Amino acid sequence: MLKIGILGGGQLGRMLLQAAANYPVITHVMESDPECPAAHLCHQFTRGDIRNFEDVYQFGKGLDGISIEIESVNVEALEKLESEGIRVYPSPSALRIIRDKILQKQFYKEHDIPTSPFYVTQNRDELRKHDGFLPAVHKMGSGGYDGRGVQILSHAGELHKGFDAPSILERKVNIHKEISQIIAMNRKGETAIFPAAEMIFDPVHNQLDYQLSPAEIPQQSLWRIEAIALKVVKDLKTPGIFAVELFIDKNGDILVNETAPRVHNSGHHTIEANYCSQFDMLWRVMLDYPLGNPKQILPSAMVNLVGSEGQSGEACYEGLEDVLKLENAFLHLYGKKETRPGRKMGHVTILSTDKSDLVYKARTIKQKLRITSKQPV
Ligand code: ADP
Repeated sequence: MLKIGILGGGQLGRMLLQAAANYPVITHVMESDPECPAAHLCHQFTRGDIRNFEDVYQFGKGLDGISIEIESVNVEALEKLESEGIRVYPSPSALRIIRDKILQKQFYKEHDIPTSPFYVTQNRDELRKHDGFLPAVHKMGSGGYDGRGVQILSHAGELHKGFDAPSILERKVNIHKEISQIIAMNRKGETAIFPAAEMIFDPVHNQLDYQLSPAEIPQQSLWRIEAIALKVVKDLKTPGIFAVELFIDKNGDILVNETAPRVHNSGHHTIEANYCSQFDMLWRVMLDYPLGNPKQILPSAMVNLVGSEGQSGEACYEGLEDVLKLENAFLHLYGKKETRPGRKMGHVTILSTDKSDLVYKARTIKQKLRITSKQPV
């Protein structure tokens, strides 16, 4: 049986392992926290630092293939492993481009992939020269995730909030909708395109509030989104699974925001809502099996369950019964011992043919389910 390793043991790793249980594969996970969400579902857990060359190299050496659930991994070690014949999903060369927002934006520009115009700024002094480009969004080249490392600069008086590190300053998009397009590509270059999902953001935590799939957008826009996302994946020239995040602006123009070269939060609904989930699909890619059917069985909404404000410590789940009695609501808790404000602790997917039913249930779940700590601090 093939031995496949995953770098990182969070919820994405956990759901990958749940799907792996259906395939002939031996799973390995490396992560620094032995109590992480994926630790107890793999065949072999290795405690280690995914950013450390030696740890990643030693972990990968005996494996047939290796994948990631987070971009901040040691790419040099993955390059060495690749040169020794271990299959890496996504390829280290694609990962190098994507994990640095500067290289990623330059990649879009070089490949004629529509994205909002931008400048590269090395430090805050350089940023100040672009006061005529505002309103804009300043994004750190590396090190940011889930909204950290992203700063909206509306006018010159806010330039001091920008990053004093290599970053991109990109024109602020007048966003109509945020869309995620998930595409898998196998080693033969065959692709499976999931229906696009629409994301609604929570302005307080700057992370996904709830998500609807399929996205409610005109067919013309859907085709354009598919074509653009497909070009991103083909030009990255690597097998794997990709979530291409795009904006539709108020003029109806479509711009790529960023790409994740891995399974993604915006694809959790595919576990119940699609014939083949994003997790199942990645195993098919890594194990060289035929791609699955990405089509949707029923429309869905997905709600992230995040730790309540002002609550840190051992997690308590209030209102689980209210959620579990909803028809076609599917609960996923990630098994994280400790909650913190805004921490992703689980998600719920709802299926329904009726859009208002989806939105009503998404709101109900957000209202009824609270993740608190036993000892509020
Ligand atoms: P992260 O990698 O931390 O998720 P993103 O680049 O996706 O960061 O940005 C986070 C959010 O900030 C986006 O989902 C979007 O709502 C907003 N945003 C990012 N870029 C722009 C932009 N150019 N114009 C307007 N809003 C933006």
